[in-house]
Amino acid sequence: MKEQSRREVLKKSAAYAIFFGALFGGGIYISPKLYAKNNHLRPPGALDENAFLATCIKCGQCIQVCPYHSINMYDIANLNSIGTPYIDAYERGCYLCDLFPCVLACPTGSLQHEVTTADDIRMGTAYINNIDDCFAFIGKKVEEADLEKILSHSNQNEREFAILDKIQNYVGKECTICVDMCPYPNKTDAIEMVYETDKAFPKINQKCVGCGVCVELCPSSVISIVPSKTYEDVHV
Ligand code: SF4
Ligand code: SF4
Ligand code: SF4
Repeated sequence: MKEQSRREVLKKSAAYAIFFGALFGGGIYISPKLYAKNNHLRPPGALDENAFLATCIKCGQCIQVCPYHSINMYDIANLNSIGTPYIDAYERGCYLCDLFPCVLACPTGSLQHEVTTADDIRMGTAYINNIDDCFAFIGKKVEEADLEKILSHSNQNEREFAILDKIQNYVGKECTICVDMCPYPNKTDAIEMVYETDKAFPKINQKCVGCGVCVELCPSSVISIVPSKTYEDVHV
């Protein structure tokens, strides 16, 4: 991470420490359970939401080590989760790094240290929110303008630029981005293209871990994640 980004994270952490100090010093205590919700996409290996809120010390270590800059910190607009890490899949999904550096960096086990492979995690499950706008389904080829959001993402290192290189190759071609870019090791177990007589479309499968990469990279925003839920919760 660039020094400037590191300083920003540390400044935020310090600001939150002051905020919470003032809050607790003033005799106000916000029970984590009181505010527990399941609509947050947490980094891989996160405990269930109540336990996560109760144990995460908002240190920002997971944010600092993520090489894809996938993890953000909730600010005051999300008071019940302020200072905790989350992933905004529309901006940047989790690329399921080898050995999960975010998990290794977590000092509290809020990101469970037992997690070592993609099969150990369940961030949520993807679903197709509007097949009628899927480029593959309507037979629309990818145009450069369709990739504007992805191509203008602020990238800082080789891994991030590698995503750009791959995505640019789709200009003028049929869209299979969500399937091709899925980082789950046996990707067809998580997502596959289905070809029927005159239609093609992506289908989410049982091993999807909800990493959000397909959400980030879909040029038509037709994929969403239901955080914490299993394939069976969402699709069966
Ligand atoms: S696994 Fe890698 S990309 Fe995903 S959140 Fe952790 S560090 Fe970031
Ligand atoms: S490293 Fe662990 S304790 Fe620190 S902010 Fe991330 S999840 Fe919370
Ligand atoms: S289909 Fe693949 S890329 Fe999309 S959320 Fe699931 S595991 Fe991640």
